[in-house]
Amino acid sequence: MNLIDGKKIAAQLRNKLKVEVDSIQKKFNRVPGLTVILIGDFAPSQIYVRNKEKSAKEIGLRSEIVKYPKDVQEKTVLNKIDELNKDDDVSGILVQLPLPDHIDKQKIIERINPEKDVDGFHPHNVGNLSSGYESSVPCTPLGCYLLIKEIEPNLSGKKAIVIGRSNLNGKPMAQLLLKENCTVTITHSKTKDLKNECNKGDIVIAAVGIPELVKGDWIKKDAIVIDVGINKTEKGIIGDVAFEEVSKVAKALTPVPGGVGPMTIACLLKNTIDCFKRSLK
Ligand code: NAD
Repeated sequence: MNLIDGKKIAAQLRNKLKVEVDSIQKKFNRVPGLTVILIGDFAPSQIYVRNKEKSAKEIGLRSEIVKYPKDVQEKTVLNKIDELNKDDDVSGILVQLPLPDHIDKQKIIERINPEKDVDGFHPHNVGNLSSGYESSVPCTPLGCYLLIKEIEPNLSGKKAIVIGRSNLNGKPMAQLLLKENCTVTITHSKTKDLKNECNKGDIVIAAVGIPELVKGDWIKKDAIVIDVGINKTEKGIIGDVAFEEVSKVAKALTPVPGGVGPMTIACLLKNTIDCFKRSLK
């Protein structure tokens, strides 16, 4: 079994992106910029945002965090987004989720200029992705896609089973695989006989949030298995895939941690640079 080393592949991607930022700096005398808006004091969000800033700076991007207390008015955040939308130094805007209940998530997402939407959540980008046009793609499924391509560059005709249908993971994942000419099945909490569906997959992507849901006998021999799940348990952080069992049948499998996770931030950096490049067109 090939253990898909997300840490290593993400480091390679970041190195490539750093070279790209250096050449942008030389050519245009400026660098792409990422601004993250962080609302409240939710601990995991604080950690994610700190890591995003650190990684952005490491590859030479301009990076900024705008912090608000959890009782900030929605209007204040919307006004800030308007300001960032007009700022040429800002290539990418990300509003860290989840948001406090009094703030309308959809309104916030739709206020971001789609050309600066590094999360790929704006309906314009969702539509562009599903139409097969150029767009920002949500970072986690983009990371999964790049990992799959490392193992199998030609995905045409492969059967892919996506478990989970969230806007964040399952749906964009399915679109990316469809674009690669996979035959894609999206499964979810109401799917009947999930084991039988998974057994058909040359590629299985689990993005559910249930520890070790996917068992060894759900997986076809030599399938590629990507585990998006991050579940805090007594055993520590584990994925949606029963690692030991599945590693005996799969051709390639991502570990948790160290698989998909590191790719997510690397893809955010990639999206920021891609937004900058598109802004030059
Ligand atoms: P979500 O709760 O929005 O969606 C979960 C999906 O799983 C839903 O579509 C639901 O229908 C499906 N589901 C629930 N129970 C099921 C069952 N028994 N069988 C089949 N499908 C079922 O979650 P999400 O935001 O997509 O995140 C999924 C997991 O990925 C979580 O563990 C989350 O922490 C993790 N995650 C990881 C990263 C990363 O960078 N590695 C990023 C985002 C999310």
